[in-house]
Amino acid sequence: MSKRILVLQGDGIGPEIMAEAVKVLNLANEKYELGFELSSGELGGASYDKYGVPLADETLERARQADAVLLGAVGGPKWDGIDPALRPERGLLKIRSELGLFGNLRPAILYPQLAESSTLKPEVVSGLDILIVRELTGGIYFGQPREKRVLANGERQAYDTLPYSESEIRRIAKVGFDMAMVRNKKLCSVDKANVLASSQLWREVVEEVAKDYPEVELSHMYVDNCAMQLVRAPKQFDVIVTDNMFGDILSDQASMLTGSIGMLPSASLDVNGKGMYEPCHGSAPDIAGKGVANPLATILSVSMMLRYSFAQAEAADAIEQAVSLVLDQGLRTGDIYSEGCRQVGTAE
Ligand code: ATP
Ligand code: MG
Repeated sequence: MSKRILVLQGDGIGPEIMAEAVKVLNLANEKYELGFELSSGELGGASYDKYGVPLADETLERARQADAVLLGAVGGPKWDGIDPALRPERGLLKIRSELGLFGNLRPAILYPQLAESSTLKPEVVSGLDILIVRELTGGIYFGQPREKRVLANGERQAYDTLPYSESEIRRIAKVGFDMAMVRNKKLCSVDKANVLASSQLWREVVEEVAKDYPEVELSHMYVDNCAMQLVRAPKQFDVIVTDNMFGDILSDQASMLTGSIGMLPSASLDVNGKGMYEPCHGSAPDIAGKGVANPLATILSVSMMLRYSFAQAEAADAIEQAVSLVLDQGLRTGDIYSEGCRQVGTAE
């Protein structure tokens, strides 16, 4: 039976990087006879322009029917002035939450060829291979109420809400422990339990889940300390599990250890392991349309898709090896360029 993949290239550099990733996907499809059927749709600003909403019902339905979704990136200054409820990012949040994609895996791996592109000294990052597990459908990005208002005294005020229920924490904690079990049995849960009630519950529930994983060495760390430790001694971490906003920030930070955010893929999984795959970076409006964006994060997201949604480890490994080979040959986009390499883009 054929397997359906919905491709949403999105906005900004989305179309450029996706064109490269789809080439890789088509090659893998042929070579390994994977039987994939690709179709495309709109998300974010592209969808707003076509349908007046950042995620059309029809697109959402097609995403539900698909076996996996491959996404570029959404957003850009073109849509800055529109109704906040219709902004491109709302489409992204909606598809994640409607598909129940609560488990976001963000590996940060330093390719040895890029040791010089890292912001840290080679001895601090060489061999770096960490996995950030970010909760993706709860917390402050979704919490209600949220409001921007004008108070009686004329002053403007705004607030957000950061709710986490026990079940939401338990299921993401399990993903963290499961990942730790197949890696090095070491898990660091990151929160702000000294200040936030939601983090206090987070820590309690993670401790409860830990009882089912006696082999995993669990530690807790406050997010501010984690931010510091990530640049001081990142190799102390193996798997990090954290909430939606902390995970967003820490994974962008971790990306710089690997040379560039243009190298970081991600998988977002539901309870059955169905997933959406996208680079960790955004739509990079500053370089969009120039053909200079790094497509490797999206290509590596294809590899994650083959591994997690389709159990095609051989094809997934082959893509990672191909990325490594390209780096061996000294080919670099601008974000990972270093002296003596040849600068290339998607345009050539
Ligand atoms: P989002 O909120 O959607 O995550 P962001 O504000 O974090 O977006 P990005 O779009 O990720 O921003 O861009 C941050 C910086 O990284 C920009 O300078 C951008 O040009 C650069 N960047 C992002 N992706 C790539 C890429 N694939 N190749 C090269 N540079 C990139
Ligand atoms: Mg970002």
